[in-house]
Amino acid sequence: MRYFIGNWKMFGVPKSINILNKINYFHSKDKNRKNYRVIITPPYTLIENYAKYFKNKSISIGSQNCYQKDQFSSDTAAVSPFMIKSAGAEYTLVGHSDNRSEGDTDKMLKNKVFFALKNKLKVVFCIGENKKEKKNKRTLSVLKKQLTKVLDKKFNKKNIIVAYEPIWSIGSGKIPTKDELKKTTIYIKKVLKSIFGKQTPAVLYGGSVDGSNVKMFKEIKEIDGFLIGGASKSSKKFIDILKNYYR
Ligand code: PEP
Repeated sequence: MRYFIGNWKMFGVPKSINILNKINYFHSKDKNRKNYRVIITPPYTLIENYAKYFKNKSISIGSQNCYQKDQFSSDTAAVSPFMIKSAGAEYTLVGHSDNRSEGDTDKMLKNKVFFALKNKLKVVFCIGENKKEKKNKRTLSVLKKQLTKVLDKKFNKKNIIVAYEPIWSIGSGKIPTKDELKKTTIYIKKVLKSIFGKQTPAVLYGGSVDGSNVKMFKEIKEIDGFLIGGASKSSKKFIDILKNYYR
């Protein structure tokens, strides 16, 4: 199974559902549709509406983050995994670099993953090195630490997906070389094996994926799908990625 996850970030109002309707229509007619899943993470404000609308359709809905507590608490503006699940989401991102840079620690991330899984959300756990870490050849050690500090062998690996997103690549148009990315993806799977045993969670790539570079990514068979930011806000750009991946 391949995953194409569109992360809308701070984008979208109720009528933006038109974008998803087009993607849903494409997927429902696509001869390759059984080989991949489309998941969109709109902002919290749209989850309930979109999840209701796309129930029993081609697109699954997720949230972009969740709070590190279970159900209800006195934390202003926080949204818990229980609330997200109750709104109809099936997935949640955890550990996106935007949120890590706002102060998410490994301990907080571990609680997020734990409570998300407890509330029957599937977790897309994001990891990635920054520009300086890459320059200092620390990519693999950074990724290993991000994985081993948060993912626990007690977690149900069937409900976890890992998204490798080099921070320097997000929204920049810069992407890793094919050799570099293949090596990194294999390494991530090796670390996941050391945590979970033989069958590892799926590993996605994220960072400036678009309709033209997806052909290069496709050649790396270890990559199980993509986390797509900018290009997921346009039905045409998102569908182009799907078309070119399966061409
Ligand atoms: C992201 O924010 O998760 C992302 C991958 O963004 P972009 O595709 O725009 O680089």
